[in-house]
Amino acid sequence: MPKHIVSGLKYLTAVELIREGLSQKEVAKILEMDRSTVSHYLNGRNLSWNSIEVAEIITKFCPKDFLTLTYALLNDSEKTRVIVKTCSKKSYKASVEESCIGCGLCVDTCLLNAIVLDDLKARIDSDWCNGCNMCRDVCPTDSIKILEVNNGY
Ligand code: SF4
Ligand code: SF4
Repeated sequence: MPKHIVSGLKYLTAVELIREGLSQKEVAKILEMDRSTVSHYLNGRNLSWNSIEVAEIITKFCPKDFLTLTYALLNDSEKTRVIVKTCSKKSYKASVEESCIGCGLCVDTCLLNAIVLDDLKARIDSDWCNGCNMCRDVCPTDSIKILEVNNGY
């Protein structure tokens, strides 16, 4: 079943990326799939509707559960980033306050690789943040703020 769920998540991502204007070739490259497989997906072949329904339910989980489950299924940071950010319906603004001590705990915690240490201060790329709040939970100085900025749709 996990493979079917992954296929469902890739299907949802492919549909969204095509809707955003990417070509099938570009989608295939991003998802590391054959172009023919992407084409089959988009035509509803090689995929059960049950897999798509389960994947749709997963994308509606809270941000943390959606992210951790997707990462557990894929065990691949880059594909997790693309799938989670493409299928997420919300956007976030993440910021780090001056109280940051540069311990790096948040960097190690972020499954979307959205945080880097820059001159011993954490810096978050909001474009890749899905609002899971796991970085905020591990920060010993309470320096991270995550705000939902709009619903995207
Ligand atoms: S909330 Fe923090 S851990 Fe979660 S995706 Fe955003 S930056 Fe990464
Ligand atoms: S966990 Fe907190 S204190 Fe540590 S680097 Fe991240 S923001 Fe800074």
